[in-house]
Amino acid sequence: MKKLVLLGGGYGNMRVLRELLPNHLPDDVTITLIDRVPYHSLKTEYYALAAGTISDQEVRVAFPEHPNLNIVYGEVTGIDLEKKEILMTNSDNVSYDELIVGLGCDDKFHNIPGADTYTYSIQTIGKARDTYQKLNNLPANSIVSIVGGGLSGIELASELRESRPDLIIKLFDRGKTILSSFPERISRYVQNWFNMNGVDVINEANITKVEDQLLFNNDEPVHTDVIVWTAGIQPNKIVRELNVEKDKQGRVILTKYHNIPNRENVYVVGDCASLPYAPSAQLAEGQAEQIVTILTKRWEGEELPEEMPTIKLKGVLGSLGKKQGFGLMADRAITGRIARILKSGVLWMYKFHKG
Ligand SMILES: Cc1cc2nc3c(=O)[nH]c(=O)nc-3n(C[C@H](O)[C@H](O)[C@H](O)COP(=O)(O)OP(=O)(O)OC[C@H]3O[C@@H](n4cnc5c(N)ncnc54)[C@H](O)[C@@H]3O)c2cc1C
Repeated sequence: MKKLVLLGGGYGNMRVLRELLPNHLPDDVTITLIDRVPYHSLKTEYYALAAGTISDQEVRVAFPEHPNLNIVYGEVTGIDLEKKEILMTNSDNVSYDELIVGLGCDDKFHNIPGADTYTYSIQTIGKARDTYQKLNNLPANSIVSIVGGGLSGIELASELRESRPDLIIKLFDRGKTILSSFPERISRYVQNWFNMNGVDVINEANITKVEDQLLFNNDEPVHTDVIVWTAGIQPNKIVRELNVEKDKQGRVILTKYHNIPNRENVYVVGDCASLPYAPSAQLAEGQAEQIVTILTKRWEGEELPEEMPTIKLKGVLGSLGKKQGFGLMADRAITGRIARILKSGVLWMYKFHKG
């Protein structure tokens, strides 16, 4: 039997399972999925988990069941590419013939002193739960500072506003305007929502240091009760420590078939992979579909396509609380209730395997 090992049950590897298990898994291949968490976690909803507007159960999706799928729960500590082995804490190493690394990302703190020690995170389900506890136990009129005005910072700030109208919320953003790389209409819409809902957006922020309950913006101290970090990501530590070629963001450089050069049996999917787009769940899924195509062709000894098609991305959708949203679909700016409905629809389709 050939052994395919999937590291991480995130968006990338869940798509691999959804494609392979019903249709394309040869009888002589077994799959071992390794994750520290005993279910697939809907990372795109962690902002709502942290804000306290959805329950923990709503961000869990059961892993599939199949006679040829074995699931190992545990912490991966390393990958030995020479021995073809996954190193684990508290359990035996797991060997593989073929491997798909889909371990997602960690926060990136840009070497800002204190940022890793004194800030909360929504990057893993465990960290999002800690953030939920901290935010929701705050007394009235406490100050929450969110560093990073990208999609997840905006979603967290707006969701928290609806969850806790009594808190003072500050959103620190590097740009001259919020979402400065988006069309002006979207940027203005989001800024208006924050103005109307009493979220203080601090533009052209430059966080230089973080201490306990103290944020230094352009070296000026800002008192705050809780700081949440949403100001950047980098590939998972296991991948950062892997001795292979990486791009400037630390993502693994791959061949057009998504495997590590000179290692046809090791693929990297999702946030850890160097692709010509910003990391996202839909990118991880699109790439995963291509990996399944390549894997099955290699198993069947078929020729690989000369070129791989471009991964098609549908656009970006962001929420502003439960009723409003914004997005870019096929380069068209959308704002308001329709954007929010679309976002909920995408989540529903994903959860119930319609997407
Ligand atoms: C708040 C927020 C909102 C977002 N919204 C969107 C959105 O609207 N649309 C969109 O497309 N993208 C969105 N993203 C980005 C998206 O969530 C990621 O790009 C996507 O999850 C990447 O998928 P992945 O398969 O690479 O890894 P992940 O989905 O992150 O999965 C990684 C898996 O690896 C496991 N793992 C990690 N390290 C270890 C270890 N050492 N040992 C064992 N297991 C481990 C984790 O438990 C996890 O199950 C959002 C992200 C955040 C934080």
